[in-house]
Amino acid sequence: MKVGAVGINCGYYNKSRNIKQNRNHIINTNRVDRVSFKGFFNSEPDLSTRFQYGLEALDDKSVLVVTSNEKSSNTMLEFYADKIDIPVMKKYTLLVKNGELKNRDDLEANFAVFKKGDDYNILSLSDIQIMGILVANPKEEYNSKNKIFSGEKKVLKDGMAIDTGEVFYSEKPKLVFNTPVRYYTANAEKYLALSTLDEFKDFNKRTISTLNSSKSVEPKNGFRFSDIGGLDNIIETLKKYVVRPINYPQVFENIRLNKGILLWGPPRCGKTLLGKALANEADAKYSEYNANEFKAATVGSSEATIRKMFKNAVANAPSITFIDEIDSIAKKRDGSSNARFDDPMVNQFLGCMSDLEKTKVPAFIIAATNRKDLLDPALVASGRFGLHLEVPMPDEKGLKQIFNIHIKNKPVMEDVSVDELAKMMASHKFNGSDVAEAITNAYFNALERLGMFEKMDSKTFTYADLQKIAISKEDFHLAMQKIVRQKI
Ligand code: ATP
Repeated sequence: MKVGAVGINCGYYNKSRNIKQNRNHIINTNRVDRVSFKGFFNSEPDLSTRFQYGLEALDDKSVLVVTSNEKSSNTMLEFYADKIDIPVMKKYTLLVKNGELKNRDDLEANFAVFKKGDDYNILSLSDIQIMGILVANPKEEYNSKNKIFSGEKKVLKDGMAIDTGEVFYSEKPKLVFNTPVRYYTANAEKYLALSTLDEFKDFNKRTISTLNSSKSVEPKNGFRFSDIGGLDNIIETLKKYVVRPINYPQVFENIRLNKGILLWGPPRCGKTLLGKALANEADAKYSEYNANEFKAATVGSSEATIRKMFKNAVANAPSITFIDEIDSIAKKRDGSSNARFDDPMVNQFLGCMSDLEKTKVPAFIIAATNRKDLLDPALVASGRFGLHLEVPMPDEKGLKQIFNIHIKNKPVMEDVSVDELAKMMASHKFNGSDVAEAITNAYFNALERLGMFEKMDSKTFTYADLQKIAISKEDFHLAMQKIVRQKI
């Protein structure tokens, strides 16, 4: 059954199909059916009833997500996937609608419930670290011990109410845990959104991200580490300190990680590329700033921009925030190597950075500069940008790697020797960007040499011409000469 085949019996159909497939050993690891119910009947059950339907549908392979912000709960669910210690193959999503929870606009519902053995566990998926969910018997006095914070779990006891705000409201709580007396999926399948997997190999991060996206887990579009040449050591370090801690948070739970990483080195050698690829490799949200953007004309607005940037980094975690030209705001004071900042903007930046360092949120700030020598020592101190990675000019071996990356899928004649070109590029101190540009220029040289521009203009260009295009040694030499001339 495909997406859109929504019907009252869809759950049963799913089940019989699964059984059939399993019997026949047809393994379709990442196949996902998502069934979103928009409401057959005018009178949809209220939130409390829908919650009960969700609870009734839980077995030892499913999770119920209650959320007023599906995007944020998906992110947090993936982040805390390993806290759900059952192999999740089904996800029910109960979407809390506007106005259904008191004060909903301020206090979003974001939690998951799953059943392990006889216990129903609640896991907070709040994207606001300081906001706890109160899980207690509503008759009890308010007690801060009854709160669970983002990523924390608690076993639900019959009659407990779940309040996504700080305290219970006087009105009857809407989300009350009544231990289900039956296992029954039809109502949940009818009134909640459902994603299912047919099979799984390794759980949970992967299965949950598949359930969230409702499609196969494919590598994201965009740069990957394999698109970067000559920087293997740096890539290894970034894997060690960022990618693996994001992917396996439990392993690094009690380890103090550097949230601030400084990439420094000459222009156009891959710093920005590293930031983007890092985000894709870690499956983290990416945002990019130029530190010059923080300099504002009006008093106080620079600090506000900086606070907002850090707030977004935390809210979007796991996240990579790339700040280019950090030297433009954090320059050393004249001559003094121990200069203290008296600039409120820089103080704000350092304050936010120190606060971030103290949290466990996987929000990494990558700052880049061509002028490390200009940076104030207070910025690069441990606890702020404690990890410094030099992104150097590529050597001959690096240039060869970069060339091979950029030449992929381009037609090249047999007389072209990559070794010879790499030697030439190294002697003219090419950076990564020069290599990319040389290849583009060489391709244009080939088109010109083969008279392709005329054919295109006279509309006589054919498929046979396309087959003839190939870059020669001479095309490369001319392209490189042009770049060398520009460098002088
Ligand atoms: P700047 O300091 O000027 O901001 P940068 O170090 O951030 O520069 P990038 O923007 O990452 O440099 O690189 C510019 C372009 O050059 C890239 O988009 C890519 O095409 C190419 N490039 C640079 N370095 C490499 C590399 N190591 N591997 C592959 N391509 C590279």
